[in-house]
Amino acid sequence: MWDSCLTKLGLHTPADALYFFPRIYEDRRHLPKISAIAFGQTVIIKVMIQTVTHENPKPKITLTKCILSDETSSVIGIWFNQPYLKKILRPGMHLIVKGKVEVNQYSREKQLSVIEFEVLNNPKEDAALKPFTPIYSLTAGVYQSQLRSSIKKLLTEKLPTLADPLPQAIINALQLLPLKAAIQNMHLPSSEDLLKKARTRLVFDEFFYLQLALAKRMNTHEITYPGPVLVPQGKLAEQYVAQLPYTLTGAQKRVIQDIAGDVKSGIAMNRLIQGDVGSGKTDVAAMAALFAIQSGYNATLMAPTEILAEQHYIKLSAKFNPMGVQVYLLKGKMKKKERESTLQNLNSQQHYLVVGTHALIEDPIIIPNLGMTIIDEQHRFGVIQRLTLKKKGNSPHCLFLTATPIPRSLMLTAYGDLEKSLIDQMPPGRTPIKTVYLRESKISEIYYFCATHIAQGRQVYIVYPLVEESEKLDLQAAINAYEDLKSTVFNGYSVGLIHGKMPPAQKQDVMAQFKRGEIQILVATTVIEVGIDVPNASLMIIHHAERFGLSQLHQLRGRVGRGQFQSYCFLIADPKSDTSKERIKAMLDTSDGFKIAEYDLKIRGPGDMLGTRQAGIPEFKLANLITDQEILLTARKVAFTIIKQDPELNLPDYQAIKKILTQSHGQFIQDQLN
Ligand code: ADP
Ligand code: MG
Repeated sequence: MWDSCLTKLGLHTPADALYFFPRIYEDRRHLPKISAIAFGQTVIIKVMIQTVTHENPKPKITLTKCILSDETSSVIGIWFNQPYLKKILRPGMHLIVKGKVEVNQYSREKQLSVIEFEVLNNPKEDAALKPFTPIYSLTAGVYQSQLRSSIKKLLTEKLPTLADPLPQAIINALQLLPLKAAIQNMHLPSSEDLLKKARTRLVFDEFFYLQLALAKRMNTHEITYPGPVLVPQGKLAEQYVAQLPYTLTGAQKRVIQDIAGDVKSGIAMNRLIQGDVGSGKTDVAAMAALFAIQSGYNATLMAPTEILAEQHYIKLSAKFNPMGVQVYLLKGKMKKKERESTLQNLNSQQHYLVVGTHALIEDPIIIPNLGMTIIDEQHRFGVIQRLTLKKKGNSPHCLFLTATPIPRSLMLTAYGDLEKSLIDQMPPGRTPIKTVYLRESKISEIYYFCATHIAQGRQVYIVYPLVEESEKLDLQAAINAYEDLKSTVFNGYSVGLIHGKMPPAQKQDVMAQFKRGEIQILVATTVIEVGIDVPNASLMIIHHAERFGLSQLHQLRGRVGRGQFQSYCFLIADPKSDTSKERIKAMLDTSDGFKIAEYDLKIRGPGDMLGTRQAGIPEFKLANLITDQEILLTARKVAFTIIKQDPELNLPDYQAIKKILTQSHGQFIQDQLN
């Protein structure tokens, strides 16, 4: 018989239930006595109910009051708005109660505002009084004691038949707890040490099977995706470097070497370049494109927005054309005639670069003889799209660039099948940006500061938030602010407006004016977030900074500090929630994109950080990408070693993990337990 409390929790099989782990564990060996509890504390006590009363002090408010006692004293326990307690609480019952000790506002007596409680069936000897009492997440109508006994039953009846799929050699080498012992100790830990080991084992499993799949995918890729053999040493690449008005940083050179190594190997490259905003990824992209072009192939470069595509197009044409390399621009909204003639060029010409937006990926056009595909700002762009890209054409080399540094642990899971390079050095001569946090009430001082900067020839961004849920209102707020600034504080200055709802041509126009310095103050919604490069802009004012995500704030800040001038980023905010306070604090604490990304991961969690599901990150039951990084690295190493040694997993020891790879871990466990 399947216990109904399990069904209520959505647990339909023994595997479901045995992998439904406690939320926390409470040490209930030495609970305090009532006489010893003090105001303000959150306590867990063992009590007996003396009396129960139910009150309705106001309509729709119910108050359940019990006098709770132990051998030392008594206290009033209060439950708010839980009318069903009428049917449960009875005098004479023994309870474990967790609550906050408060003072009654009328009687000034101690009372306990109950957070959680459970009924003790056998108060002398009970599972609820263990040193590590498991506390599960519950749903209405399910009780800890009930669930504990259902799971205990499964632990004795079902768990013994479970065989450990992990090869014994790995268990031994890593001193992992066997699977059965791990599951047993998660529910009923016999010591703190065993609980820790149990968790480690299960977290290892969560990472290991994922890494095994990634290792396998990478291995398959190497076999089945031959790429064109490119020649990195060549005239075009040399010419490009020679004409730059600066020397490449060591980091840029190193990353270009990584790419050079890939493209001559004969296997299609699949590499992600991480480099903070302003670290000089465009040159890396240009070199990769030239590797293909000088080897007789074409290349594509895709940016997330039209503005960025346009910017790349202008910058790269200026550098490529003198070397005799054509650059074409493909946009979403092109005139039909213009588009057709571009497409015709793409088919009749050779050795060119096509710049487009990410939309180009879904576009059915085929670029003939494609040798290199570069995706700029890859983080705006999910795993699914990456896969479509691979299928398109005859596996060109793929290079992904991202400005949002992805923390290492996330990298190894969401992007675990890519090779990686890091541009961990900034071009010389940049002064760090000063970040200042101010309340809305100080705004006039900032505008004054603004004016002094403009007088020195600098330019300013003023950014307003725009989120999907309140898009219309936000847009109107930004437009109103623009009108207002233009006619009041910044009357007499050249003020421009740019937002996502403007026609692309108009946007480009505004950006071009800003670049040429004709617009001094650019009021914007987040369209300027990525990639825009105007070195003369040295002031970034972000209104309602509390409404932006952390990586967005970091990206926005990265729009300034690109020239030789001291730059400033003003965060205007009235943060209310803890997370928005944390975000502002993170921005003030560091300008290191990696630290920002780590904060972001902590504040938001991995799913959100990369755009939820799209990011292709599985939901872990136990594993935490930040605190379990060590285990992740071990699991990854073991998985990759196994695949290297036996790619098809033919060894007898690997039969169970092979099965898991084709099914899933969950399915495998379920089959064994049923
Ligand atoms: P991002 O990594 O954000 O795409 P960009 O490629 O746009 O950065 O480069 C930012 C700015 O730094 C550009 O103006 C670029 O010309 C300049 N730059 C790039 N590499 C160097 C270098 N090695 N030395 C000096 N300036 C550089
Ligand atoms: Mg860029």
